[in-house]
Amino acid sequence: MSTLHNLGFPRIGAHRELKFALESYWRGETDAAHLEQTGRELRRQHWQVQADHGVDLLPVGDFSWYDTLLDLSVTLGVVPERFGWSGGEVDRDTYFRMARGRAPHGEPVAACEMTKWFDTNYHYIVPELEPQQTFSLASKHLFEQVREAQQLGYNVKPTLPGPLTWLWLGKSRSAEFDKLELLEALLAVYGELLQGLQAQGVEWVQIDEPALVLDLPPAWKQAFEASYHALRTPGLNILLATYFGPLQDNLSLACELPVAGLHLDAVRAADEIERALDRLSPYQVLSVGIVDGRNIWRSDLDKALELLSPLHERLGERLWLAPSCSLLHVPVDLAGENSLDPEVRSWLAFAVQKLEELGILKQALEAGAEAAAADLQSARRAIAARRNSALTRPLAGQPEQTLETTPTQRTSAYPQRAAAQQRTLNLPPFPTTTIGSFPQTAQIRRARRDYKQGRLDEATYRATVEAEIRKAIRTQEALGLDLLVHGEAERNDMVEYFGSQLAGFAVTRNGWVQSYGSRCVKPPLLYGDVSRPQAMTLEWTRYAQSLTEKPVKGMLTGPVTLLNWSFVRDDQPRSQTCLQIARALRQEVLDLEAAGIGAIQIDEAALREGLPLRRADWRAYLDWAVSAFRLTAAGVADRTQIHTHMCYSEFNDIMEAIAAMDADVITIETARSNMELLEAFRHFAYPNEIGPGVYDIHSPNVPQTEQMLGLLRKAAQVIDPQRLWVNPDCGLKTRAWPEVEAALANMVQAARQLRGERPPSASPAA
Ligand code: GLN
Ligand code: ZN
Repeated sequence: MSTLHNLGFPRIGAHRELKFALESYWRGETDAAHLEQTGRELRRQHWQVQADHGVDLLPVGDFSWYDTLLDLSVTLGVVPERFGWSGGEVDRDTYFRMARGRAPHGEPVAACEMTKWFDTNYHYIVPELEPQQTFSLASKHLFEQVREAQQLGYNVKPTLPGPLTWLWLGKSRSAEFDKLELLEALLAVYGELLQGLQAQGVEWVQIDEPALVLDLPPAWKQAFEASYHALRTPGLNILLATYFGPLQDNLSLACELPVAGLHLDAVRAADEIERALDRLSPYQVLSVGIVDGRNIWRSDLDKALELLSPLHERLGERLWLAPSCSLLHVPVDLAGENSLDPEVRSWLAFAVQKLEELGILKQALEAGAEAAAADLQSARRAIAARRNSALTRPLAGQPEQTLETTPTQRTSAYPQRAAAQQRTLNLPPFPTTTIGSFPQTAQIRRARRDYKQGRLDEATYRATVEAEIRKAIRTQEALGLDLLVHGEAERNDMVEYFGSQLAGFAVTRNGWVQSYGSRCVKPPLLYGDVSRPQAMTLEWTRYAQSLTEKPVKGMLTGPVTLLNWSFVRDDQPRSQTCLQIARALRQEVLDLEAAGIGAIQIDEAALREGLPLRRADWRAYLDWAVSAFRLTAAGVADRTQIHTHMCYSEFNDIMEAIAAMDADVITIETARSNMELLEAFRHFAYPNEIGPGVYDIHSPNVPQTEQMLGLLRKAAQVIDPQRLWVNPDCGLKTRAWPEVEAALANMVQAARQLRGERPPSASPAA
C-alpha cells in the first residue's frame, strides 16, 4: 500500500477561528485557556478531516500560533536578548512579543523582522542570529502536539523546517558573519529534538528544506551532506521535503542524502521525478507531490496517473502521495462557496478537495482505475468542461491584440513629458502627495458591507462614499497637499476591488489564506480572459476632481500586482494573462485621462515578490512584468503624469527594470530603513522623479517635521532635488484620522521648509 500523507494543513480554520481567538486574546478580552482550547480544537478538527479523507500519516507541527519558523527558533532557544528571556521554556508572551512586538504581558519591544516565504504571500518571522549564538531545547510544544495526536489515536508524522533552510533564512542584526559557523551547535540541539520524537514512538519525521530549490553557494551545498549524516537517528526515518520548484543543480545532492525518503514537487518539477528515481537507493521512499498546493484548480487526474502508474509499478509501497507543498497556501474548503458561478465552482479544489483527489489517485493505483472509475470520470468531465468553456476562450469579436499592435512606449521621453506635465499640474518644487488610501473608518466599512449584502440601497451607499471623498479632499486642501487623492473609501482591498469588476475574475466568500499571524487574504480567482465591462474607478475619481481646483491623482492597482495576488489560471502562460489584465487597465487609464485626470498612479506593490526563485529566470519575468506595466500606462499623452508605487525597498538588484517601467514618478518605502535604499540610487542614476517615503505608516507615532526634513536632505544628496517628491511610504487606510492629519501637517511643513518658505501662520501645520 502506498502511503498518502500531507505536508501541512491550513491552520487558520475554515472560518478563521484562529484569527479571532488570537486577536481577542491580544486585546485582553479572552484568556490563555480560551486560546489553548481553540488551538486544540482546530488541531483535532484538522487531523480528523485529513484522516477522514484517507491521509495515512498526519502532519503535526504544521499548527502554529503565528508562524512555524518562529516556532522552530523558539524551540531551539533562539530568542534575541531584548526580549529578556532568561532560559527555560519560552513562554507565550515572549513568543508573541517576538512575533509582533507586543503581548498581553510584558513591555512593548521591537518585533523580529518578517518577510515572505519563498515566492508565496505567506510571511515568516526571520530567525535573528548572533555570531556567538547558543542553542538549547526551549519549547516542548512539538512533543506535546505529537502526544495530543497520538492520544486521539492517529498515526503521526511531525513536520519541521530543516536546519539549513532555517539557517539560510536567518539574519544577524549586529554583525556580518558566516552563519554556517553556527551549524554544528544547531545540529546538536536539532538532533536532541529528533531523539525526543523517536522516544515518543514517532517513525517518520518530515524535514522541509525548500532552500534546495534556490541558488546555493558551494559551502551550503556541502553542508547538507554533513548535516544529514549528523542527524541520523536510530529508529527514526527522515523524509526530506523540497518544494516550490525544481532542484536542478541540487538534485543529485538531495538524492544522495542519507535520509529514508525524499519528497519532490511534481507540479513545478515533474521532469525531475524520473531523474530522481534513478538516483535513489532501493530502500528509499519517493514522495510525489502530485496535487498542486499553490493553486485552486482541480487536478487532471488522468495526467497524474500517467506519471504515477509506472512509478507505482517500480516502487510499490515506496511510492508516497502528497500535495506538492503544504496546503497552507490554499483556502480550506469549497463547501459553503455557494455564491460562485456554479460553472467556475466546478473547476475548483481547495485543501479538503485536494485531499479527496489524492484519495482517488491512491485508490486508482491500488485497486485499478475501474475501482475509481466514477470519480475519475467526474474529474475528467470537470477538466474538459473548463478547457472547453466559453469563459476561458477569447471573447468573441475581440481581436487578439499583441504587444506589437499596442504601443508600450510613451510618445516622448521623460524630459519632454515632465515639461508638459508641469504646464498642466503646476506643482511646486518638492511636491507633496499621499499614496492613495485614507483611514477606513468603521462607518465606511459598515456601509460597504451593508451595500454588498443588499441592506443599503445604492443611493445611500453612493452618498456615504461621496461624503467620505469630500472629507478626504477638504482635509487635503486644508493641509496644503499639492497632488490630492480621493482616498479609496469604496475599496475593501486593492486587489479584490478590481477583481470583482473585471470579467475573467471571481471572488470567493470565504477563500481565506493566511498571510501572516492572524492576517488572512482572500485572493480573487482569475479563471478566464480578462476584460473590463465598464469603468471601475472613473466616477469616484471624477467626483473627487469636481470638488477641487487642485489636481487629483487617479488610483489603480497594476497588472502584475493583480496577477501576483490572485489565484491564476494555469492553462496559459502567466505572462499572457498579465498582458490581458494590462489591456483592460489601459482602457481605465485612458478613460481617466479623457475625464481630465492629470495624474494616474498604477500601484505595483507585488512586482518584486513575483521574482522567480532562481536568478536565471529573473530576466524573463521582469521583461514581461515591465511590458505589462508599460502596456497599461503608455497610452496617455505627454501631459498626463504616470505614478507607480512599491511598498518595499529591496530593489538594488532590479533597479534597471524599475527604471524601464518609465513611470514619471515612483513612490517607494524607505522610512523604516532610514533611507538605506538610497544607496541604490547612488550607483544607479534613476532618470525620472522619486518620492522616497518619509515616514513609516505602519506605526501610530506622529513623525516630526525635523525627522522628515533630515530624511529628505539625505535623499537630496543622491537624487536631484528637482525630481524629489514628499510623501508617506504607503497608504493610510490602517491609521486613524487624527494621527494622519497631524503627520501630514508635519510632512507638508517639511516640504515648505525645503522650498525655503516661511510657515504661513494660518496653516494647520503652524
Ligand atoms: N494605493 C494603495 C493604498 O494607498 C497602495 C497600497 C499598497 O501599496 N499596498 O492603500
Ligand atoms: Zn505600499
